[in-house]
Order: sequence, then C-alpha cells, then structure tokens
Amino acid sequence: MEGKRILVTGGSGLVGKAIEKVVADGEGRPDEQWIFVASKDADLTSAADTKALFEKHKPTHVIHLAAMVGGLFRNMKYNLDFLRNNLHINDNVLHSAYELGVHKVVSCLSTCIFPDKTTYPIDETMIHSGPPHTSNFGYSYAKRMIDVQNRAYYEQHGCQFTSVIPTNVFGPHDNFNIEDGHVLPGLIHKVYSAKQDGTPLSIWGTGKPRRQFIYSLDLARLFIWVLREYNEVDPIILSVGEEDEVSIKEAAESIVAAMDFKGEVIFDSTKSDGQFKKTASNSKLRRYLPDFQFTPFSKAVQETCDWFNSNYAQARK
Ligand code: NAP
Ligand code: GDP
Repeated sequence: MEGKRILVTGGSGLVGKAIEKVVADGEGRPDEQWIFVASKDADLTSAADTKALFEKHKPTHVIHLAAMVGGLFRNMKYNLDFLRNNLHINDNVLHSAYELGVHKVVSCLSTCIFPDKTTYPIDETMIHSGPPHTSNFGYSYAKRMIDVQNRAYYEQHGCQFTSVIPTNVFGPHDNFNIEDGHVLPGLIHKVYSAKQDGTPLSIWGTGKPRRQFIYSLDLARLFIWVLREYNEVDPIILSVGEEDEVSIKEAAESIVAAMDFKGEVIFDSTKSDGQFKKTASNSKLRRYLPDFQFTPFSKAVQETCDWFNSNYAQARK
C-alpha cells in the first residue's frame, strides 16, 4: 500500500490533542499523513456531513474519537442525548468508512460501559454480559454498539474495524468544566479557584470510589500502536495495572500536592459516588506489550496541573 492517510475524528479533544502531540514529537512516520478534525470540520451526527468529510480527505485509516463525552454528573442529566448523539456519530463514521473503502478503523469504547454487577477484574469478553451502571446507560449502550457493528462489518464485508477500551483519561486539553467534566480536570479547576478565593476544596461524593487513570499521552502512544500493529476485531483494554487503581480521595490528594494547595478539603456526600469501581485487567495489553512504560500517576498529574496553570485563559472550562 502507498502512504497512509490517517483521519482522526475528535482531533480537538483530550485524546485527539495528545495523539497530535505524540505524532509531532517524533512518533509519526514519513509514509503517514495525519489529519485531525473537529466539529467545525463536520457535524458527525449528520450522515451527509460525515460522508462529505470522508470524500474530501479520502482516508485509508481512521482513529475515531469524536463523541459526546462527559463526567458522571453530565451523563446523569443527559442519558438520551448521550445515547442518540453517539449512536448517530458512530453509525455515520463506520458506514462512511465502509463506503469509502477505509482499510482500518480504531474506535474508542470506555471501561465505564461494562456491566455494573460483575466480577473483577473486568476483561474484554465481558462488555455485553449485563446492564451498565444506571448513571450513564445512554453513553454505555451507544458505545457497546460500536463493538457489535465492528463484528457485523467484519462478518458481512470483511472490514478491519476494531476498538480500544481506555479507563478514565486525563491530561492537557481536557474539559476542565466543573459541572460537565470528569473528576480530575474538575478537581484541578476547583483547586485553582479555591486557591484564588481562599475557599475550601469540595470533593463530591465520599471519595471512596476507585478508578484506574491513564495519562492521555500514554494512551496516545498505545492508540498509534493499535493502529499499526493490532489486528483483532475484538477490543483491547488500554489501562494501567489493577495495582495502580486509586481512590478518588487519593487522586484528590495528588492534585492538592501538585497545586500546592494548603486550604481545607471537604467531602460533599450529598453528591453521587457513581459506579463504585470498574477495575479492568490489562493482561491482554501486557501479552502484546510487556514492556510498555506508563507515566507515574503523580508525574502525569503534575504535568496536567502545570498545563492548566499555564493555559488557564484558553483551557476548556
Ligand atoms: P473530548 O475532549 O470531549 O473531545 C471530544 C471530541 O469529539 C472533540 O474533538 C469534539 O469536537 C468532537 N465531537 C463531539 N461531538 C461531535 C460532533 N457532533 N461532530 C464532530 N465532532 C464532535 O473527549 P475525549 O476525552 O478526548 O474523548 C475521546 C474519546 O475517548 C471518546 O470517544 C470518549 O468516549 C473516549 N473515552 C474518554 C475517556 C475520558 O476519560 N475522557 C475515557 C474513556 C474513553 P469539538 O472540539 O469541535 O467540539
Ligand atoms: P466516572 O469515572 O465515569 O464515574 O466519571 P467521573 O470522572 O466524573 O468520576 C466520578 C467520580 O468522582 C464519582 O465518584 C464522583 O463522586 C467523584 N468526584 C469527586 N469530585 C468530583 C468532581 O469535582 N467532578 C466529578 N465529575 N466527579 C467528582
């Protein structure tokens, strides 16, 4: 095959910006042309706009990141919108990729779409084994359908469409909006404001739920590996080890240290805890890449806080 034209949907988001940086910093190859697109280039909920985007760029490969995304509290408010927008986006992207003869598509699921009642650790075989947590069922069912579609496109048309399953992602260019965003960017923004206003930091919920966090720049390197080397239709979990899972309280403590916050810290247990945990196994990833080095959590938190402090004016918030 001649050079690859790699279209990245959701190229302006947390994960898209990380892939762009990793490619620019030396991971890109001379035979690869990378095209990063955002919603201003095409509204992917529209089938016509999506097809026009694919006809314009004629990609040979696609990393499909675009999605309606949000933290626990945004998901609880808009389950219907999460379901419909993401079903439309995913169907439009996968079908345009099929129609235009794209060689490979890597789409993005999430560990929060797994069954709520389950055994741990969760692995790739368990996506459809039971209902997801009620807080984000719209997002979860829409994301699960990507895996169903990937198998159907493979069986009926031989398409090489696959997916990855990251745990909670964080890093530069995240959505730092306190109401809508995920826990780490939300807490970083809250600490920033608490420092400025001399007010306490409010951690929502009990602080007891547990999460595996992956740094966006580590995830970006893994995405590029999947695009080049991973040839299964079945998904692969991209996660740090089970031993690296931390409580929300411990995660908040890392942010407090990185931001050098000396004020009072309180827990607002009137707010939801969401899913208690979703501990995922990275054994499949480790079978392929036994030596992959993840950035230590405290270093990644420090880099993200530094980025937010230096880019406060432009950051999404
Ligand atoms: P993000 O920062 O919110 O970025 C979302 C991206 O999707 C943006 O580029 C946005 O474009 C684009 N987008 C949204 N609606 C669109 C539409 N209708 N048409 C075209 N583009 C649209 O999200 P992210 O955290 O990078 O997430 C990337 C992928 O990772 C998603 O599939 C998400 O489900 C998955 N994921 C995320 C996490 C996490 O913790 N963040 C965890 C697991 C999986 P604009 O900037 O133009 O709006
Ligand atoms: P999830 O991992 O999909 O549940 O989504 P989040 O990234 O939004 O994390 C939610 C967890 O963090 C819940 O246990 C919340 O109670 C807790 N949490 C604590 N403070 C915050 C905050 O400021 N924002 C968010 N989104 N969650 C918070």
